[in-house]
Amino acid sequence: MKVMKFGGTSVGKPHRMHEVAKLVTKDEESKIVVLSALSGTTNALVEISASLARGDRSAAKEQIDALDLHYQQFIQELLSDKTALTKAKAVIAEHFEFLTIILKISFSEALNKDILAQGELLSTKLFCIYLEEKKIDHILLPALDFMTIDGYDEPQIGAIKVKLAQLLQRNKDKNIFVTQGYISRNAKGEVDNLKRGGSDYSASLIAAAINASVCEIWTDIDGMHNNDPRIVKKTVPIEQLSFEEAAELAYFGAKILHPASIWPAQYFNVPVRLLNTLFPEAKGTLITEKAGSVGVKAVAAKDGITAIKIKSSRMLLAYGFLRKVFEVFEKYRTSIDMITTSEVAVSVTIDNDIYLGEITRELEVFGTVEIDTNQAIVSIVGNEITETKDIMEKLFESISSIPVRMVSYGGSRHNISLLIARSYKEETLQLLNVGLFGLD
Ligand code: ASP
Ligand code: MG
Repeated sequence: MKVMKFGGTSVGKPHRMHEVAKLVTKDEESKIVVLSALSGTTNALVEISASLARGDRSAAKEQIDALDLHYQQFIQELLSDKTALTKAKAVIAEHFEFLTIILKISFSEALNKDILAQGELLSTKLFCIYLEEKKIDHILLPALDFMTIDGYDEPQIGAIKVKLAQLLQRNKDKNIFVTQGYISRNAKGEVDNLKRGGSDYSASLIAAAINASVCEIWTDIDGMHNNDPRIVKKTVPIEQLSFEEAAELAYFGAKILHPASIWPAQYFNVPVRLLNTLFPEAKGTLITEKAGSVGVKAVAAKDGITAIKIKSSRMLLAYGFLRKVFEVFEKYRTSIDMITTSEVAVSVTIDNDIYLGEITRELEVFGTVEIDTNQAIVSIVGNEITETKDIMEKLFESISSIPVRMVSYGGSRHNISLLIARSYKEETLQLLNVGLFGLD
């Protein structure tokens, strides 16, 4: 049994949803099909929620009506059969009635989560109506019946496994199971979610829970590329990556895969394949335990980074200094990405500066604190790259014109990270494309 996950753009237009139906019926292997919301829907729901939180009901009403209209038009092109259309209209009516009711009740965080869940609930129900119209046998498995997170927002893989096994056992005669990505139930039993972009994470958790033969992530690009295709002109897809390499790339900026989705697949050793709905024959990228080849595979960049330098003579010959520094970040649940130290100073980077003020104030107890905002981490990822001598030479030669603020080397054998000012990001990626991959 395999998992096939389709993202928002893969289901975002009626004809694209038709293609998805073709892809899921292409082979005989039984499968769980995980869908995102139609592209744009979750953003629209976030805005509706924000309007309600501000108490601006008329803006919320306008946004709800616009989204409703979008779905009314969507089903006209998705379906041709009258009965199917009637069913789809009823589904839309049900979900938009809910959204209209919330206009009248007071806003809360639990309600916000309910609002955000509407996108995946709609996309999966409409897809199932289309499958039914096409007489494709299938069953909808509501994610809220099996996908659970604990009090720390961590998925409960053991419980998910047991519940899914029961659901599958109950529907043994079925070959195609459709379910929602992103949504889950929390420790209180309320509707919740795995955070933005979390459908990949759902797919990987499901694949781990059922010990799938493969977890296919279908998007609209043919796999992970060696560089950011939105920034540099020429990029090439990477055929094979190890879980470690993929995790570094996903975390440091390759937008194609949600970073959290690597660990379940890795832990339960389920291969992940990144595929392209627009070009299904393309090989895409295979992610497994094995790295495939030695050497640089890709570079990726992540913006919105803040660097914090703590300088203190008390650090000299002292022990326990770093622990105290780290405790401050732990207290504010802010994770550190890069770290470099000298005998009298330590520099770290964070990508979440909500508590920057509090963190700075507490760090000032230890010494002078300097903050650089608007930084970017450029990550060079590959197998055993830190053991490949000429890579370092080529790397620094190719970016000799760029001022580098921090270098992280040797933390793992698969990654070298550089911290640069955000304004140099594009130029750096382009220079590395030439210097490391010979792509102009
Ligand atoms: N629909 C959700 C989002 O846009 C989850 C996902 O697509 O992965 O964030
Ligand atoms: Mg996504």
